[in-house]
Amino acid sequence: RDSGTADKATYDWSSEEEEPDGSARPIQVLVVKDDHTFELDEAALSRILLAEEVQNREVVAISVAGAFRKGKSFLMDFMLRYMYSQATEEWLGEAEEPLTGFSWRGGSERETTGIQIWSEVFLVDKPDGRKPYSLYMHTLDQVYNISQNVQEDDLQHLQLFTEYGRLAMEETFLKPFQSMIFLVRDWSFPYEFGYGQEGGMKFLEKRLKISENQHEELQNVRKHIHSCFTNISCFLMPHPGLKVATNPNFDGRLKEIDREFINNLQVLVPWLLSPRNLDVKEINGSNITCRGLLEYFKAYIKIYQG
Ligand code: GDP
Repeated sequence: RDSGTADKATYDWSSEEEEPDGSARPIQVLVVKDDHTFELDEAALSRILLAEEVQNREVVAISVAGAFRKGKSFLMDFMLRYMYSQATEEWLGEAEEPLTGFSWRGGSERETTGIQIWSEVFLVDKPDGRKPYSLYMHTLDQVYNISQNVQEDDLQHLQLFTEYGRLAMEETFLKPFQSMIFLVRDWSFPYEFGYGQEGGMKFLEKRLKISENQHEELQNVRKHIHSCFTNISCFLMPHPGLKVATNPNFDGRLKEIDREFINNLQVLVPWLLSPRNLDVKEINGSNITCRGLLEYFKAYIKIYQG
């Protein structure tokens, strides 16, 4: 939005899910206001999750959460490219093609924070030919700062975020969430822990280790995270280069992104989204559908509204 280039979509948050040309777009379904209260656009969320073809399908929900202006939309747009290319080898696109999808924005001015969802829920075929599942994506702005390192603050916030999970757990006695991936951006110590998943795992193990001489509160955060997620992993991402970080006219074209970043993107995105890697797991004998996800959302919001 800030760059004002014509080929970037502009969004007016009207209640229609689609642009006049029928293409999908991001929709702000939750707005966090300055006094920390928030509003949920339940109608918009319902229209998307209760769409005829997806509402009763098992769902894989992809949530990219992180601090405001830390590249969630940028990453999400590459994930969208992957989805729209139907996971072909050439998913990454052309060198000079501007990135579209979620609007990502340079600059440091605050804009709306909250949850933006992609208006199209994808139907994905499983490799074994069983019924397709749906894949839903959103970004969630956190007020905390996540960059370069996983800080205590982030872990604390994650505890807040998983609070609903804990409540759900009391009813079902099962781990509420499946996978949690810490994506560390602008990792600048590849000589200590290499980029990618392997380095990430080693780094994370060190960070999440529970030790006797830690403050009790810190121990609890770690235990809590372990109790909420079945799989926890971490991926260390290099810096995308100065054009991405500082040029106001940057429109997302690959040509201007550091090679090292692109190489890692080519590992990261298929690892996150490949149908081989996305397994819809059963919870208490039944899978979560889009309809169930909507209920989950509503309950989550209630908890925050007290
Ligand atoms: P969002 O608010 O989290 O969705 O952030 P955006 O995706 O809109 O990105 C905010 C700014 O950060 C943009 O100027 C991007 O070009 C830039 N950016 C995206 N990814 C990265 C990254 O990995 N590192 C750095 N340093 N900047 C990034």
